[in-house]
Amino acid sequence: MLKAYNTLSRKKEVFKPKEGKKVELFVCGPTTYDFSHIGHARTYIVFDMLVKYLKEKGYNVFYLQNITDVDDKIVNRAKEENVSWKVLTRKFEREYFKDMKSLAVNSITKYARATSHIKEIISQVERLSRKGFAYKIEDGIYYDISKFKEYGKLSRRTALQAEDAVTRIDESIGKRNRGDFCLWKFSPKESLRLPTGQAKPFTEPSWPSQWGDGRPGWHIEDTAITEKYFGPQYDVHGGAKDLIFPHHEAEISQMEAISGKKPLVRYWFHTGFLTVGGTKMAKSLGNFVTIREFLKKYPTRILRLFVIKAHYRSPIDYTENSILQAEKELERIDEFISKLKTSASAKATEDKQNSKIVKNLVLVTRKEFEKAMDDDFNTPKAIASLFNLINRGNSLIAQNKMFPSAAEDILNFLGKMDKFFNFIFFKKIKEKIPDEVMKLVKEREEERKKGNFEKADEVRKKINNLGYQIEDAKEGPKIKKISNF
Ligand code: AMP
Repeated sequence: MLKAYNTLSRKKEVFKPKEGKKVELFVCGPTTYDFSHIGHARTYIVFDMLVKYLKEKGYNVFYLQNITDVDDKIVNRAKEENVSWKVLTRKFEREYFKDMKSLAVNSITKYARATSHIKEIISQVERLSRKGFAYKIEDGIYYDISKFKEYGKLSRRTALQAEDAVTRIDESIGKRNRGDFCLWKFSPKESLRLPTGQAKPFTEPSWPSQWGDGRPGWHIEDTAITEKYFGPQYDVHGGAKDLIFPHHEAEISQMEAISGKKPLVRYWFHTGFLTVGGTKMAKSLGNFVTIREFLKKYPTRILRLFVIKAHYRSPIDYTENSILQAEKELERIDEFISKLKTSASAKATEDKQNSKIVKNLVLVTRKEFEKAMDDDFNTPKAIASLFNLINRGNSLIAQNKMFPSAAEDILNFLGKMDKFFNFIFFKKIKEKIPDEVMKLVKEREEERKKGNFEKADEVRKKINNLGYQIEDAKEGPKIKKISNF
């Protein structure tokens, strides 16, 4: 029985979707004005893994993600770069998709752009106004948090503590309560001038509405999108912890006020941050590594293992050493797989007793593994049971007790596990070793055969200078990329 931690109740609860095995899941997507960093990757790898695990358990998951393509940060960046907001956001949307593809994050059923849902957004603002939850002032339509009696139930803050809810778009002197947030911001009266002093006016994104031209506030796009695809209530909403307040709190206030139905979401899942020296990795702090920078140095599998081996709600601190540690762990897994493959194809005669031992080992591991995963997706425990299997399996191999059918059993089990972890058999990003390096490897082998070890060493150095290293194994030289090159 799957149990999952719900931020709303602050408890682990039995996971029971609204309708049988159908799961409607929404995760806050990127704001597309820049490249994504590995902090974003953490959150998206986690949800990709959770969705794939749920699917493996027989759930039919509809995974919806929004793309925020209208926002203050976008407007500012577009101004700085003297491009239209549309050109900017479409470019970074494409880059985001490329990053997700290289991370093998491919479980999203539907992406929904905020600006493709303006009609739905306006309809929500209209209904909130009609029901008395929204009011109009000089620069926009605002949500009155004092009207929603349960404001604060997700973040456990009161309306008075909502002061820091205010982001730039929510700033306005005419608001009733300091924590009130913007639903629809009117377009600036005068055209803004470009910072470079050019005369060309900069056009902010804007759409016509009954109240005047404007653009949506931050929180309304998500409820407009989820209402369209899921209706007023659905199963799971996810994002990183920073979104609990004010963003997700505002979503509840908006949708429950409109529909009169609660809860908006049955389970709120929030991921911990990827941190650097204990501080959240963030664009604004400049302490970030983009996904593509990371993937120039390390394969995707390492990032997936690095992320998945921590519990999804705990922070993970990013250091070079912790990545190297994940790399070593993957090497251990790879070595085990390669030995298992050799055992699986060997023509050894089965020994009934030993086969039973391995079958039992797989059975116990599977049980431990599922128990851990079903306990709020406890991946650190699940991965510990995987390493336990590797230790025991290696010792059976060393004693020549790993027979083909047993090895097959373990490989099958690992294959199933990798459907959602996707760091064991991940091959997509297998990097081609450059021809130049391969030529040097051959040259070195020839020198070694001739006994010219000094010369061979010189060639090895040349290989190192190109960012590769050689390990001499029984079956021949193994070539590896130097991680921190
Ligand atoms: P943004 O594009 O900044 O709106 O972020 C997209 C998603 O990534 C949101 O769910 C954020 O909460 C999440 N996120 C941003 N920074 C981090 C981080 N350092 N660690 C984990 N998740 C993050």
